[in-house]
Amino acid sequence: MKLKLVYSHENVKKPILAKIVLKTNLLINIIEAKVTANMGEMIIDIPSEGEQLREVIDYLRSEGVTVKEVVRTIEIDHDRCIACGACVSSCPADAIKQNEDWSVRFIEENCIGCRICVYACPVRVIQALGD
Ligand code: SF4
Ligand code: SF4
Repeated sequence: MKLKLVYSHENVKKPILAKIVLKTNLLINIIEAKVTANMGEMIIDIPSEGEQLREVIDYLRSEGVTVKEVVRTIEIDHDRCIACGACVSSCPADAIKQNEDWSVRFIEENCIGCRICVYACPVRVIQALGD
């Protein structure tokens, strides 16, 4: 499952993820991270589910980290798409591919919800879903 973590200046310097890895042996993959001395935002992929995932999320929250599930956040209007490929080249997660006939397909499991493609599309046919 992909999670978005937001750190505040109080917890950004704490080794919170390292402690989770040591405690659980989970191979957490950091897909994207923007960290400064005062705050941090991270998208992680965590190979877990059920009770173990709940415990990890509870621990992150107990340390003051804001945790949100990354869900499918875009929809492409294929009828209006002009197959320019701008979304394909701008996507940092390989979540939009171009088919042999130049049409595009969305690969939901790769999407990290950054929405860069929404702004990259010249004809505005990619819609952001959710908040
Ligand atoms: S939201 Fe980001 S990761 Fe998802 S398809 Fe668009 S550019 Fe790619
Ligand atoms: S950027 Fe927009 S018009 Fe271009 S291929 Fe992607 S969805 Fe289609």
